[in-house]
Amino acid sequence: MFTHIFVAGVFGKACGFFGMPARFWLLAAFCSVLPDVDIVGYYYFGIKYGSMFGHRGFFHSLFFAFLVSSVTALLAFPTIKRFSKKWWGIFGFFFMVIASHGFLDSMTDKGMGVGFFMPFDNTRYFMPWRPIYASPMSIQKFFSGAGIDVLVREIIWVWIPMLLIYSGVWWVRKRKRNG
Ligand SMILES: [Zn+2]
Repeated sequence: MFTHIFVAGVFGKACGFFGMPARFWLLAAFCSVLPDVDIVGYYYFGIKYGSMFGHRGFFHSLFFAFLVSSVTALLAFPTIKRFSKKWWGIFGFFFMVIASHGFLDSMTDKGMGVGFFMPFDNTRYFMPWRPIYASPMSIQKFFSGAGIDVLVREIIWVWIPMLLIYSGVWWVRKRKRNG
């Protein structure tokens, strides 16, 4: 979960979103973890993991990312001219933030794959390379030793590479500025 938020934050900075209102970053953090609302359905409404609306199903799909990023870009930033370059930038950013969630989940070692193309295609996908440990689905377990292991793996395989990429972007930008 922290990793999803972290990725959204670093990605936003790397894309050059500076001077955005706090609302922008709060929404980005919120959207980065939003796909996991399907856990509520799993625990409280008995929706099966493998079904369309189960965990890593529809809510982790690219279509869901498209829906939420459209709504966010249309409603949350009324001062930005719709369909202007900046508007598309915001739309694209939120789309990537939500899509990155499914992408990261598809690199985990356990559970089921991600239904990227739901509701059109029910196939669940994994990436060919899965270095991340699946996060325990219950909060108690998460804060036990298992959660720490997961976090350490995520720091190694996600946080550090993201920071390296970001430093690269930062360096290029700095060089450009200095001519
Ligand atoms: Zn997830």
